[in-house]
Amino acid sequence: EFSRVGFIGLGAMGKHMAQQLATKLPETTKIFVFDVISAPVEELVAEFPGKVIACTSPKEVTEKSDLITSMVPEGRHVTSVYLDETTGIVATDLQNRIFMDCSTIDIATSLRVKAELAQRYPEASFYDAPVSGGVLGAAKGTIAFFLGCAENDPQLAVLKEFLSLMGSKIIPCGKPSLGLASKLCNNYLSGLIGIASSEALNMGIRAGLDPRVLSNVFAAGTAQNNICDRFNPCPGIVPDAPSSHDYQGGFKVQLMKKDFTLAVNMAKSVGATLALGQCGLETYEAASNDPECFDRDSRVIFRHLGGDEK
Ligand code: NAD
Repeated sequence: EFSRVGFIGLGAMGKHMAQQLATKLPETTKIFVFDVISAPVEELVAEFPGKVIACTSPKEVTEKSDLITSMVPEGRHVTSVYLDETTGIVATDLQNRIFMDCSTIDIATSLRVKAELAQRYPEASFYDAPVSGGVLGAAKGTIAFFLGCAENDPQLAVLKEFLSLMGSKIIPCGKPSLGLASKLCNNYLSGLIGIASSEALNMGIRAGLDPRVLSNVFAAGTAQNNICDRFNPCPGIVPDAPSSHDYQGGFKVQLMKKDFTLAVNMAKSVGATLALGQCGLETYEAASNDPECFDRDSRVIFRHLGGDEK
């Protein structure tokens, strides 16, 4: 059924997601890909010869595909992919095309892109479909998609069938932009849990506690949480957590800073009071600028607070 699909943005997440599509879709499917950097495009074409086909612009991807996924860093990149009058998606006929933007960006940009497409091509559909689950989840095809649409969206069945090739959970969040709102609420909360867990572990260790004992206490007590259980910020507690490998892999601290900034701005725009928003933002900003933390998993906050000082 999905014989002509497009993928734009083959970075840390996008390349794995496109690989999932290329692995799972039948031999007759063609996957048209574009990235501003040629290396990941060439690698993917070499890995799936005849099935993955390189394009020179988002416009060309759109001309050749029916269902198009985009996965680029920020709002300005999404704007360029979709709205550039020469190379962008709008530069061609979009009749009946379905677009899913999986990038984590601000709500205003996503709604503007959607409105612009709808105005010019009422038959095209655009969905915000940000993801959670990280690079490892993308590689395994287990990420979650938060979809900006209603439960009864007429295209939901098709979207679910398609997105389940790349992920294991697909949650319709209500209406356009609420996929992004969900993602920003999720990352705000998990970002705060990362800071709070790091603080509590650091405090306990300095008071003489073994971090293993303290982590068992949290797991048995009211502080039980997914970050301590799976991504414990203290090295050596969870063997395959990034913290146990010098915070390599995982979700980079500067990406958390980006998402946290988007969440704090969203709170302002909807009039939600955040007691912890500004401190959280400053903490992730400081850790992103700390050379011992930059480019490492966001739970490196534990190190930033001096948790691994001997
Ligand atoms: P990345 O920087 O590794 O990859 C982005 C890719 O987009 C790059 O290959 C870049 O060359 C390409 N790109 C930039 N501008 C482009 C354009 N105009 N046209 C085509 N390609 C362009 O980023 P990533 O980690 O893959 O993240 C992508 C998005 O997914 C971000 O919004 C991020 O917040 C979100 N996200 C990331 C993770 C994660 O763990 N890395 C998890 C969930 C969500």
